[in-house]
Amino acid sequence: MNVTTDKLTSNDLMQMEDKHGAHNYHPLGVVLERGEGVHVWDVEGKKYYDFLSAYSAVNQGHCHPKIVDAMVEQAKMLTLTSRAFYNNALGPYEKFVTEYFGFDKVLPMNTGAEAVETAIKLCRKWGYEVKGIPENAAQIIVCENNFHGRTTTIVSFSNDPVANKNFGPYTPGFIRIPYNDTTALEEALKNNDNVVGMLVEPIQGEAGVFVPDAGYIEKAQQLCKDAGALFMADEVQTGIARTGALLAVCGDCSCGNTCQKDPNTFVKPDILILGKALSGGAYPVSAVLADNEIMNVIKPGQHGSTFGGNPVAAKVAIAALEVIRDEELAANARRLGQLFRKEMQRIIDSTDLVVKVRGRGLLNAIIVNDTEDSDTAWNLCVALKENGLLAKPTHGNIIRFAPPLVMTEEQLMECVAIIEKTINAFEK
Ligand SMILES: *Cc1c(COP(=O)(O)O)cnc(C)c1O
Repeated sequence: MNVTTDKLTSNDLMQMEDKHGAHNYHPLGVVLERGEGVHVWDVEGKKYYDFLSAYSAVNQGHCHPKIVDAMVEQAKMLTLTSRAFYNNALGPYEKFVTEYFGFDKVLPMNTGAEAVETAIKLCRKWGYEVKGIPENAAQIIVCENNFHGRTTTIVSFSNDPVANKNFGPYTPGFIRIPYNDTTALEEALKNNDNVVGMLVEPIQGEAGVFVPDAGYIEKAQQLCKDAGALFMADEVQTGIARTGALLAVCGDCSCGNTCQKDPNTFVKPDILILGKALSGGAYPVSAVLADNEIMNVIKPGQHGSTFGGNPVAAKVAIAALEVIRDEELAANARRLGQLFRKEMQRIIDSTDLVVKVRGRGLLNAIIVNDTEDSDTAWNLCVALKENGLLAKPTHGNIIRFAPPLVMTEEQLMECVAIIEKTINAFEK
């Protein structure tokens, strides 16, 4: 095989990854070459609906022309200065993104995990310098079945053995409580002045799109506030229109992205963590947002990133957020999400293979009627792939369905037909 001239087949490319790449993922057997909007194509030219959207990074659709143009234009001009010098793209982006989400300040990073790390550092520093707790005593409350990324500290407070076994010793300073349980939170906050904050996903994505009870987020925020602890929302996956509102902490609020300026109608986290769709999947861009009282504890030299806040990221993020607003993707996600769950419920009512659909907006999951260690969900995803729709199981018997938010109703119904056909054929 001559790798420089021959067109490599899907099999060639999968074997190449298998041989030369670390085996830290187990991808579905499809090799993608091109993407546009809600579609992707494999190297043999077969077209698929993307029903994962790179874990909700591609909310704006693949290769959105406005985002790609912003990236290319800036890439030709200036790509990286580091923060040793100013650049003319960062300030306008910082102004834009803080106004967009209603915070005083932003700290720009690249990946979601880095943004979570940043939030943890910020929260601890605030705890020592503003709340005044004793040195090295800070504790942060996290939830069971959380997913916040892959760094050593973040896996330290995961309860998924796949994520943290043999990666110890673990970073101390975290208290893990059940998700969706305000009594447990109250208990954890009680008589413990060393709690500096709570880190939580408004909907647990990786855990299988677990939607907490109505009012949980509001109550959790209030309890943190009463206890003098910071409420930190990890919206890396749920944020940026995915759940039918600009942020998942907005719940069912349908105003788009205007009400966050009104503290009476917006559950405003003390620290907001964004990533993934902040760039529309074009570039690694993440961000931590907070008001001055919190963000100002970070002084020069105390935190940073060579690539964080680079001019390409700045331009890409502005374009990606403008697309969300201009194309009203939150409203589209809300409307199509309701339709999708209704259609899934109709299918569930006529099959034994799937038992439940849950989610909000276009972040949904179906539960396959089998044990968690069965490969039924995987095999169903393989069958969906054969029929032109790409999705991936999360945690055994759960399949997440999260298409790009630029989908039309007609396309969604075509996808429903593919899913229905696949499920019906699978049973036989
Ligand atoms: C994906 C994700 C992260 C980590 O983001 P990376 O860019 O992969 O580091 C953190 N939190 C949540 C909720 C996520 O879904």
